[in-house]
Amino acid sequence: MIHFSCDRCKRVLDADETRYLVRVEVTMPLEPLDGDDPEDDRDHLAEIHNMLERLSDEEAASLSEDAGRLLRFDLCRECYKKFIQFPVGREPAEQFGFSEN
Ligand SMILES: [Zn+2]
Repeated sequence: MIHFSCDRCKRVLDADETRYLVRVEVTMPLEPLDGDDPEDDRDHLAEIHNMLERLSDEEAASLSEDAGRLLRFDLCRECYKKFIQFPVGREPAEQFGFSEN
């Protein structure tokens, strides 16, 4: 039997427990090409090709990583409720253990 665990609190979920699958697609919107000069007939494809040729394999790999990623998380119900309130991690200060002392 497959057991899922929560990616946030690491708790193993019971077989009959609701599991929340969070899919986060990260993309980097492309800047529109320079529209100020419609007569510009530079070969953009050739420029991109030349740029890629100059990159090392490592640089090319990190470039494609920057361009987009699909992240997948399994969450338990409690973690899902927290995640959906603060999907970009801006939780209230008390979550980080600040005390009144
Ligand atoms: Zn959890």
